[in-house]
Amino acid sequence: MKFELTILGSNSATPTSQRFPSCHVLNVREKLFMVDCGEGSQIQLRKFKLKFSRLNHIFISHLHGDHCLGLPGLVASFNLLGRTSDLHIFAHPELKTILHPVIEYFSHGLTFAIHYHDVDPKKHARIFEDKSMEVWSIPLNHRVPTCGYFFKEKPREKNIRKEMVEKYQLSIAEIVSIKAGSDLTLKDGTVIENKALTTESLPLPRSYAYISDTKFKPSIAPLIKGVDLLYHEATFMEDDEVRLSKTFHSSARQAAEVARMAEAKQLLIGHFSARYTSAEGHEKVAREIFPNTVAVSDGMRFSPGE
Ligand SMILES: [Zn+2]
Ligand SMILES: [Zn+2]
Repeated sequence: MKFELTILGSNSATPTSQRFPSCHVLNVREKLFMVDCGEGSQIQLRKFKLKFSRLNHIFISHLHGDHCLGLPGLVASFNLLGRTSDLHIFAHPELKTILHPVIEYFSHGLTFAIHYHDVDPKKHARIFEDKSMEVWSIPLNHRVPTCGYFFKEKPREKNIRKEMVEKYQLSIAEIVSIKAGSDLTLKDGTVIENKALTTESLPLPRSYAYISDTKFKPSIAPLIKGVDLLYHEATFMEDDEVRLSKTFHSSARQAAEVARMAEAKQLLIGHFSARYTSAEGHEKVAREIFPNTVAVSDGMRFSPGE
């Protein structure tokens, strides 16, 4: 059961010959979820062989160009390709006002419907849910309203131990409720705990948090506690207080602090300022606090729990 993240863009404000601006794609059982869509994201989708037809949900963290200017081109290509399935875009309400006229101008008569889902970046709320997964908004602190996104798989039904079915002569109704997590109460009132009756379905539920542009914000740690894969921006390598507070960005050390506080399993850092020619320094600084850190580059893939 796939849960795989592909990095399509890892640079900050401007693209370079090596790095595109922000864009991630999470493949959850062959459904693609895009997070941010910097310029050129459609080229990266092609390059890293992610199918356009599997992409129905796009989440935008904030309305800075390096996070959303790829959308008009991507939507225009969908239209040229004769897409028919609905496209869902989750973003600050202003995105629709800005983007829709551009899309309408270039794509007369869309062949598919676009549903805009308003996200309030100040709220920590569940904004999407399907059979296998839910997505929560994580309020951040940037120059414009910004939120991160937390993708969590739902727990799967447990497996019942065959020997227990025989031992307690379980009915179909009892089996259904035990698989959903209930304990069993015998006729004499004895309670048999669920964990004695079941085994966990593997793989265990996986999670991924995308912490977009933000000032150091330790209060997000409890909202993403135990996350498997934490992406946190680390625009700057140094802790230059003046620059950090003026730009509302984070340093590599601050990203690592959040990962440590959140007890993340792995930290990915990106959104590097174009002033650096390499991200090796960022990685070194972060690893001093959080050893399992990777400074990402475009095309890297991560599958937690494998
Ligand atoms: Zn940015
Ligand atoms: Zn920004």
